[in-house]
Amino acid sequence: MKELIPLADIIFPGTAEEHILKLITNNPLKSLKENVINQLDYSLLHERHLYQPNLEVSRGCGMGCNFCQEKDERLTNLKSPKLIVAESHRTILFDNLTPMNLYFEASLFASKEEWIDELIKHRQQTKQSFKWRTEARVDSIKVSHLKKLKSAGLEVIDLGLESANFNQLINMNKTKRPEKYLSQASRVIEEAYRNNIKVKVNILLFAGENKESITSTIDWLDKHKDAITGVSVGPVIVFGWQTKIKAYLNALSVLGASVSHQPITGITHLDLSSTIDYKSSIDISKYIGQRYTTSEDYFYLKSFSYFARDYTFEQFNSDCKGIEDQLNFRLV
Ligand code: SF4
Repeated sequence: MKELIPLADIIFPGTAEEHILKLITNNPLKSLKENVINQLDYSLLHERHLYQPNLEVSRGCGMGCNFCQEKDERLTNLKSPKLIVAESHRTILFDNLTPMNLYFEASLFASKEEWIDELIKHRQQTKQSFKWRTEARVDSIKVSHLKKLKSAGLEVIDLGLESANFNQLINMNKTKRPEKYLSQASRVIEEAYRNNIKVKVNILLFAGENKESITSTIDWLDKHKDAITGVSVGPVIVFGWQTKIKAYLNALSVLGASVSHQPITGITHLDLSSTIDYKSSIDISKYIGQRYTTSEDYFYLKSFSYFARDYTFEQFNSDCKGIEDQLNFRLV
């Protein structure tokens, strides 16, 4: 890393948050207690009114999906609703730009009913009505909780389905019981739709992917297309130094994948199988994205959490002109 960034005088492996304050102020953080340090101060940002803010509600996961950095990271408790409403109160601005929403940042959002009740109560007590979005597994959100979650402000779920092919789900170690997993996914999507919660489905093209696995995923998505607001798709990418990723690349090669190329140090792209090379995986990703995501849906989802709050649909449409074939959604 020193060779790659010669001007950097200090390099920390992993996350550096515990060191940043000391670097800048020479005072180390006194308390590293969970839920105390992970509050972001948006007032420090330049043009902070343009940002859709994140609010970190938990870390880690530990569910073991073999492509994921979080697979062995312990899941922390959800941040308390009292802290959340205090943070949202400090953060949310009211103006005439795209409404400010919160992304409840969590690798795996998993709430108990008492937590949802508390959030509803604290929102009412503090007269807040912000909308929020989060990321979940199909089996980390209880179908019976969705109605209450909507009352607590949940507006969009990024659902890490990853595939609807039994073999691929098992190869990813996403689940050992794909049939049950997919029926749970159906129930979550349908119940979310009934409660007017938008679901964006995440799909991962994984090692060993072939025509049959792609077709079964598309068939499954077709059955749910009216209830989903968009699909994000991409092939698995391996991050890390060569010595650290060797074992993982070997494991993926057993499933039929091989190294395609490294566009830059630390990033490895794959040919997923003998029939789906890297380029095909990008084309398939675009095909699936365009099949289920309109430009309106895409703009809605991105404006909710990512686009600058003064970016309009007209500007977006004009920026899309001439690059239609590169987009993972279709222009309508
Ligand atoms: S459930 Fe999501 S966050 Fe957890 S290991 Fe799997 S992909 Fe990663």
